[in-house]
Amino acid sequence: MKHNFFDKDIVQLILDLANEGKRVIVSTLDRDFIGKPFRFAGDILAIADNIDKKAAICFVCGNAATITFRKGTSTN
Ligand SMILES: [Zn+2]
Repeated sequence: MKHNFFDKDIVQLILDLANEGKRVIVSTLDRDFIGKPFRFAGDILAIADNIDKKAAICFVCGNAATITFRKGTSTN
């Protein structure tokens, strides 16, 4: 599941599923376009047994892209 589209209840849902013995795999952005933690990413990272952090490649310089690229002008 991609957590960014859920509300805070997603953290408890993940815990409930894991406590039922289910394997829960969550894909998430960890930071937004200004580098601020993305919604509940910190909570989810805190309860994760394993974390596999990936980075995109910056189209401009070719380095690892560590924050999200904002295409629009919305501040949300
Ligand atoms: Zn760059």
